Amino acid sequence: MADEADIANAYITNAIEAALGSRQRKASPAKVITKECKGCGEEIPLARRQLGFSFCISCAEESERRKSLFVDY
Ligand SMILES: [Zn+2]
Repeated sequence: MADEADIANAYITNAIEAALGSRQRKASPAKVITKECKGCGEEIPLARRQLGFSFCISCAEESERRKSLFVDY
């Protein structure tokens, strides 16, 4: 539940930053978001990076699975 709120916040923040950034400084790249997954080093799909994720899909799924295991435990 908290994760969904975090994702929404990250998305909104990114959208606002992108809007402000493109208006104020066109040439300079906004923020350096890591291209590679913090878990396995694989490249994260751009759409995912734009949402503020720093893990690839398989690592995210893996951590979700672990989380739900812990919750059940
Ligand atoms: Zn990964």
